[in-house]
Amino acid sequence: METVSPATWTRDTGHAEKRDLWAAMKRGFRCRCPRCGEGKMFRAFLKTANNCSKCGLDFTPHRADDLPAYLVIVVVGHIVVPAALWIETNYSPAVWLQLAIYLPLTFISSLLLLQPIKGAVVGFQWALRMHGFDENAPGDIPPV
Ligand SMILES: [Zn+2]
Repeated sequence: METVSPATWTRDTGHAEKRDLWAAMKRGFRCRCPRCGEGKMFRAFLKTANNCSKCGLDFTPHRADDLPAYLVIVVVGHIVVPAALWIETNYSPAVWLQLAIYLPLTFISSLLLLQPIKGAVVGFQWALRMHGFDENAPGDIPPV
C-alpha cells in the first residue's frame, strides 16, 4: 500500500490563506512591509531589511533580482522616448538642449522609481507566496 508523506502536494496543501496582491504591491511601492504596511522594507537604498520592524515578517526570502531594474527601464523608456520623439518632431530643439534635459530626467526618474518598484516586486512575491514566502512549502524543495 502506498503512503502519502506530508511533503507531497495534495489538493488541500494548496489552500493557504489568500494574500491581497494589490494591497501588498501598494505597500511595497511605498517601501513598507507588504503584510502590515507599517514597518520599513529597506535598510539601505536597495537593501531590504532582514525583518519588518512592526510585524517581524522575514524579508530575506525575496528574489527580486533584476526585475526591478528591468521594470524601471520599461516604465522610464515608455515615458522619455515618446516625449523625446514628440518634441523632436514638433519643435526639433538643439541636440545639446535635448541631451541636457533627457539624460538627467532619465537618470533621476530611474533612481526615484527603483526603490518603490523593488518594494512592489517584493510585495508581489510575498502575496503570491513565491520562493521562501510560502511557510507551508514542502521542506525537501530548496528555496532558491
Ligand atoms: Zn510588517
